[in-house]
Amino acid sequence: MKKLILVRIGEIALKGLNRTNFEHMLAKNMKEAVKKYGACRIGWSQSRFYVEPENDEFDFDGAVEALCRVFGIVSVSPAYVVESEFDAIKDEAIRLCGAKLSTREYERKQSVKFKVETKRVLKSFPMSSHEVSAEIGGMLLDEYEKLTVDVNNPDFIVYAEIRERTYVYVDIIKGQGGMPVGCNGRGMLLLSGGIDSPVAGYMIAKRGVRMYAVHFHSYPYTSERAKEKVIELARICSKYCNDIKLFIVPYTETQLAIHENCREDLGTVIMRRSMMRIAEHFARECGCQALVTGESIGQVASQTMQAMYCTNDAANMPVFRPLIGMDKVEVVEIANRIGTFETSIQPYEDCCTVFTAKHPKTKPTLAEVLAEEEKYDYKELEKRAIEGVEVIWAK
Ligand code: ATP
Ligand code: MG
Repeated sequence: MKKLILVRIGEIALKGLNRTNFEHMLAKNMKEAVKKYGACRIGWSQSRFYVEPENDEFDFDGAVEALCRVFGIVSVSPAYVVESEFDAIKDEAIRLCGAKLSTREYERKQSVKFKVETKRVLKSFPMSSHEVSAEIGGMLLDEYEKLTVDVNNPDFIVYAEIRERTYVYVDIIKGQGGMPVGCNGRGMLLLSGGIDSPVAGYMIAKRGVRMYAVHFHSYPYTSERAKEKVIELARICSKYCNDIKLFIVPYTETQLAIHENCREDLGTVIMRRSMMRIAEHFARECGCQALVTGESIGQVASQTMQAMYCTNDAANMPVFRPLIGMDKVEVVEIANRIGTFETSIQPYEDCCTVFTAKHPKTKPTLAEVLAEEEKYDYKELEKRAIEGVEVIWAK
C-alpha cells in the first residue's frame, strides 16, 4: 500500500506571476523541514504538493507534524494511493474507515456519523463523484454496523480524490497558512526573552519573511541562563522559519553609561534608541529591509505613542510591530499555540528590567530625549558593542 502526504497551499496559488518562484520556495522549505525524517520526493502540480516517502524507514508522523509548521501550507493529509478504479478505491475506503473506527476516539462509541466526499478530477472516470460517494457510503454502512450517514454534521469524512491516481484519506490537519519563508525579503527581529517578541517574529515570518534576530544582554546583570533562554526561543521560532542567525550583543557598558549619564526617567527610551541603531547595523549587514519588535501600544511606559515616536526616530529603516494593536491575552494565545510561552515565562531577567526607572516618563518629547542622549558617548559605545557580538545559528 502506497502512502504519501498531500499538501494543500493557500495564497500562493493566487500570486499569478510570482507563482513559480513561490512554489520552488515552498518545495525547498518543505524539503528542509522533512529531511530529518527520512528520504522522500517532493513534487507538485495544480497547486497541490505531494511528499512521497522513498522507503519504509520514513517517519511519516514526524514529517506530517513538521509540515504543519511550514508557512504557505494550509493543510496536510496522510493519504493512501490506489489505482483510479472503483474496486480499488472502495477497498481502500473500507480499510481506512475500519482503521479510523478502531482509534481511541471512536472504538468505544456506539454510533459514529460519517459521510463520503468524492472529488473527480479525472474526467475519464466512468462514474460521477456523487455516484462514487453514494456507492462507497452504502458499502461502508454494510461493513460497519455502528456507522450512520450524516452529511451535515459527520464525525469524520472519508475522502476520495480521483486523479491519475486516487488518493483516499480521512484526516485533514490544519497548517499555519501564510506564505513560504524567503519569498518576501528579510527582517531583523529584536528578540528579548519575553512573551511578545518571539510572537512578533513568528507573525512576520508567516508572511514569507526570512528572520534574523538580535539580542542584547548585560552580563553579569543578566545571567548566562537568560541568554540560553533567548537561544532556546530562537530555536523554537526556527521550527517555523528555517535556521535563524542570532546576534548576541554585549550591552552592559552602554546600559551603565546611560544609567550614569542620562536622566533616569528617559533611560528606557534612550536605551531603545540605541538598540534600534545597533539592530539596524546588523540588519543592513544581513540584507534586511525592516526591524521587527514585539511592542504594543500602551503595554508599558516605553510603548506609549510618544515613547515609540522617540524610539522610531533612531531607526532609518521601517520598524514593524505586528502586535501593535493586540491585547496581552491575544499574544499569549499565539505564544501558547506556537510553543514559545513556557520558555518565555521562565523567570530570567532581561536587560530592560535591570535599571528600570521607578517613574519612567510616559510622554517624552523627542527634543528632550535628543538633548539627553548627547550626554553619553553612544557612538563609541555602540561601536564597541557591535565589535563584541557573538553569532549563533539557532536551529
Ligand atoms: P517582550 O515580551 O518581547 O520582552 P515586553 O512587553 O517585555 O516585550 P519591552 O521589554 O518594553 O516589552 O520590549 C519591547 C521590545 O523591545 C521587545 O518586544 C523586543 O522586540 C525589544 N527588546 C526588549 N529587550 C530586548 C533585548 N534584551 N534584546 C533584544 N530586543 C529587546
Ligand atoms: Mg521584555
